[in-house]
Amino acid sequence: MSLHELPVKPIPAPATPRATSTRSAAANPKVGFVSLGCPKALVDSERILTQLRVEGYDLVPTYDDADVVVVNTCGFIDSAVAESLDAIGEAMAENGKVIVTGCLGKREEIIRQAHPGVLSISGPQDYASVLDAVHTALPPRHDPFISLVPDTGIKLTPKHYAYLKISEGCNHRCTFCIIPSMRGDLVSRPVDEVLREAERLAMGGVRELLVVSQDTSAYGVDVRYAEREWRGRQYQTRMKALCEGLGELGLWTRLHYVYPYPHVDEIIPLMAEGRILPYLDIPFQHASPRILKLMKRPGAVDKTLERIQRWRSVCPELTIRSTFIVGFPGETDAEFEALLDFLDEAQLDRVGAFAYSPVEGARANELPDPVPEALQQERLARFMERQAEISAVRLEAKVGTVQRCIVDSIDGELAIARSQADAPEIDGLVQIQNGQFAGLKPGDFCDVEIMGSDEHDLFGEVAFED
Ligand code: SF4
Repeated sequence: MSLHELPVKPIPAPATPRATSTRSAAANPKVGFVSLGCPKALVDSERILTQLRVEGYDLVPTYDDADVVVVNTCGFIDSAVAESLDAIGEAMAENGKVIVTGCLGKREEIIRQAHPGVLSISGPQDYASVLDAVHTALPPRHDPFISLVPDTGIKLTPKHYAYLKISEGCNHRCTFCIIPSMRGDLVSRPVDEVLREAERLAMGGVRELLVVSQDTSAYGVDVRYAEREWRGRQYQTRMKALCEGLGELGLWTRLHYVYPYPHVDEIIPLMAEGRILPYLDIPFQHASPRILKLMKRPGAVDKTLERIQRWRSVCPELTIRSTFIVGFPGETDAEFEALLDFLDEAQLDRVGAFAYSPVEGARANELPDPVPEALQQERLARFMERQAEISAVRLEAKVGTVQRCIVDSIDGELAIARSQADAPEIDGLVQIQNGQFAGLKPGDFCDVEIMGSDEHDLFGEVAFED
């Protein structure tokens, strides 16, 4: 993503100075911001931007207008590293005063080698270092009279949905992943703090919360599920209690990065009761017990299929989204075929897949028997083809039903919306043919009669009552 595309909403202009004001007429210092990477990194960007705005900095959408540029990087896989280095290079060429933060910041030598002129480098969640670097490059001109920051802080998502980060870091050590070395061990935010943030977001107009972390089902394990008070009731810092609290807000709550621990069973009834969305994003990564062991994946893997069936018997509307890695070192033909069989049996709704690629510093690099790239690509294509057929059939089964949807945007006569089964950015869409006629606006909920489908999306019309 380049600075020119940064989805920062225009910040309201400061109020016109009153005659009695003693403020100087000097312009506010201006910061450009490039945000790369996953939703967790996006939340980091939002926090930095919020603080900068509190301190009186203006956020600008072009390199030319910026006095300094902050680049929040991703370092998860090699292509993300390359994209981050490119983004830093572009900011250096276009502006020249660049502060780097985020996951790639943990690998300072790579950045220094490619771009020796950057002003400062810090790792993920190191907000203080980023702000120090901005202050050094561009001292703040704080004036509380003009500091216009909404109660919800600065958000990089549309007004009607927001990511809610419940913890940082991860206690697992999956062999293909270097996130724990970049973000450290699990640190959970106290449940009352998370619920208060959710409450503020709801009051600011957010209709859908996307709960993110590295491992949502491990929430609270580091603080021994400490109890905290919210709205006069005690809540444990634990996934189920968090879901109960969020369910009180009357929003859509969507859970991401959930691992299939036994206690996930406890939240399925909350989904069946409509307190949180019947949606689970579970990165299974593979189905072969031997490969999962080589990956050192968390969660019980042996009874996954039975558990999925049990969840669906409690909550038939449950949507399961997952991601997989194909061509992991040592993956045999038989293990890959077992993965395809798993897809057939599990009938997952949404699936993303990657061909395994080594990440510098990951232990999986030392595993023997790498799968040749051509074979990896062949397996990836077969995997995606199989899942596309499954997804198409599952979506087709929704034709003739009425789905509750949230509108993301209006495009001519169409409203572009998502059903409860679709997370923003990663899942499908519902195109509402009579969206404009029905007077829909972004953030509106509506019931849509589904009239058609393809392998990704649904098509329909607002269902009007007779
Ligand atoms: S669970 Fe595994 S893949 Fe996910 S962040 Fe932790 S170590 Fe990485």
